[in-house]
Amino acid sequence: MESQAVSPLFFMFADMETLKIDMHTHIIPEKLPRFAEKFGYGDFIYLDHHRPGFARMMKGTEFFREIEANCWDPDLRIREYAQFNTRVQVVCTIPVMFSYWAKPQDTLELSRFLNDDIARLVADYPKQYIGLGTLPMQDTELAIRELERCREIGLVGVQIGSNINDRNLHEAEFFPIFEAFQELGMALFVHPWNMMGFQSTQRYWLPWLVGMPAETSRAICSLIFGGVLERLPQLRCNFAHAGGSFLPTIGRIEHGFNCRPDLVAVDNPVNPREYLGKFWVDCITHDPVMLRYVLDTAGVDKVTLGSDYPFPLGDLEIGAFIEEMDLPSATVEKIFFQNTLDWLQLDKQQFV
Ligand SMILES: [Zn+2]
Repeated sequence: MESQAVSPLFFMFADMETLKIDMHTHIIPEKLPRFAEKFGYGDFIYLDHHRPGFARMMKGTEFFREIEANCWDPDLRIREYAQFNTRVQVVCTIPVMFSYWAKPQDTLELSRFLNDDIARLVADYPKQYIGLGTLPMQDTELAIRELERCREIGLVGVQIGSNINDRNLHEAEFFPIFEAFQELGMALFVHPWNMMGFQSTQRYWLPWLVGMPAETSRAICSLIFGGVLERLPQLRCNFAHAGGSFLPTIGRIEHGFNCRPDLVAVDNPVNPREYLGKFWVDCITHDPVMLRYVLDTAGVDKVTLGSDYPFPLGDLEIGAFIEEMDLPSATVEKIFFQNTLDWLQLDKQQFV
């Protein structure tokens, strides 16, 4: 595979623009094995390529969603994101692929398939793509082993869900995994999935509009109150969708910590506000007023350009609203690339 589909002229002009790295995008291999048949159970996702350029994502026999070729075609993706002066995408799998519900060994096999696919992409397009892996989080030992392998094959971090089969991220079985992230220097991206209240919120797309922001706050609160961030100060976490409802409700969360320490401060005596500025969040707010607030609370060094490309709920103009906000150019540069490079511990020279 070569990236020659993009005109060299584009890169000449793009050099004059601020480097833009989009750190929240999803990708899936064009061809997925029929894991359900192979393993003999389960609603593993497969792709039904029913017409050119489109595929039906099937969950068992159930239709999940229709996706387009920009979910798997690297050259098409580059052409699309180049229209918004983006030069690099950080890619990770689509959360429905996590499959934490499956037998650990099977989730490991699926994870390895997805991780190898992203590693190949990154090797073929080192200036256009950065890769994050996925892990069988339901099995501590297998997860750590695959995390080590992710690093060996050139991935710089891993995306995990906001809960693991309804187990919160502070639970003891996950701690050695987070410890391994810190030791290996792998970045952590927490993405909402397996949304709370899913069954009772089916109408109006509420799992995505209400459940997802709550899930991300659930993940951040668990990691803070469970003392994970306290015990692993070098763990580099980034939380999707601007941290969900965590930052907008930090006042309530802090007040709860102060007024009911018997309920909240049972595992970590540190005020949750102390952790602001210690983790990253992406900028996916669709709202300049909220983004200013996020910059104020998370800190200008901790907000990263993300889009959720190629999905419609994402910011598919990839940060155009930020350019219109009249922010200091130094802040825009931090959001567009520097903060992501800090989070992933990568060097700008690699991409120019
Ligand atoms: Zn996403």
